[in-house]
Amino acid sequence: MKLASAALGPFETNAYLVMAEEGPDCCVVDAPKDSGRLLLEEIGRRRLRLTHLLITHGHWDHMCDAHRFAAAGAKVIAHRDDRELLENIEAYRNRYRSMIPTLTDDDFRSVKVDRWVDEGDRVETCGHRFEVRHVPGHCPGSILFYEADRKLAFVGDAIFKGSVGRTDLPNGDWNQLLASIRTRIYSLPDDVTLMPGHGGRTSVGTEKQTNPYAKP
Ligand SMILES: [Zn+2]
Ligand SMILES: [Zn+2]
Repeated sequence: MKLASAALGPFETNAYLVMAEEGPDCCVVDAPKDSGRLLLEEIGRRRLRLTHLLITHGHWDHMCDAHRFAAAGAKVIAHRDDRELLENIEAYRNRYRSMIPTLTDDDFRSVKVDRWVDEGDRVETCGHRFEVRHVPGHCPGSILFYEADRKLAFVGDAIFKGSVGRTDLPNGDWNQLLASIRTRIYSLPDDVTLMPGHGGRTSVGTEKQTNPYAKP
């Protein structure tokens, strides 16, 4: 896969730039702080055409710059269960500012979602065909985007290399997260590469064997 990534913002959230094998189209997965400026510059440099922004869940560190990609013409895709976070992030300013006092009002701008997707939906973008799987637990609207042809999935904060998403945030649910991982991630083929929202990539087989939190 023609892919670039960068870990950005105060929580080092991964933003992924996914490019078509042929032609100028591209899409972005997740929109941490500063990704709008940096990835849109990169898209301009490579003379690409941005078609979609895929959001794995509505936490601020994954949607901060979503409005910038939308303004650049990207159709925004997310899960309805995070509608409140995505369309009313201004209401959550104080919670994040208590952790990171340097954030400004400009860091809290909602985004209008163009398409709500759910379990089993298909997303076709820039020559890639993704299957959506709903993986709530870390956040109610957590989804992953799985491309069977290329054996790769963007999993957001559901699972990490050797770890899993935290469930102590509002609306987090530990049992639900474990069920999501076991039924919707560990049911993928072992050789599928997992691209998480933080940290390095891993694989389904590796996590099934070694993840200390989520046993198969
Ligand atoms: Zn999160
Ligand atoms: Zn995150």
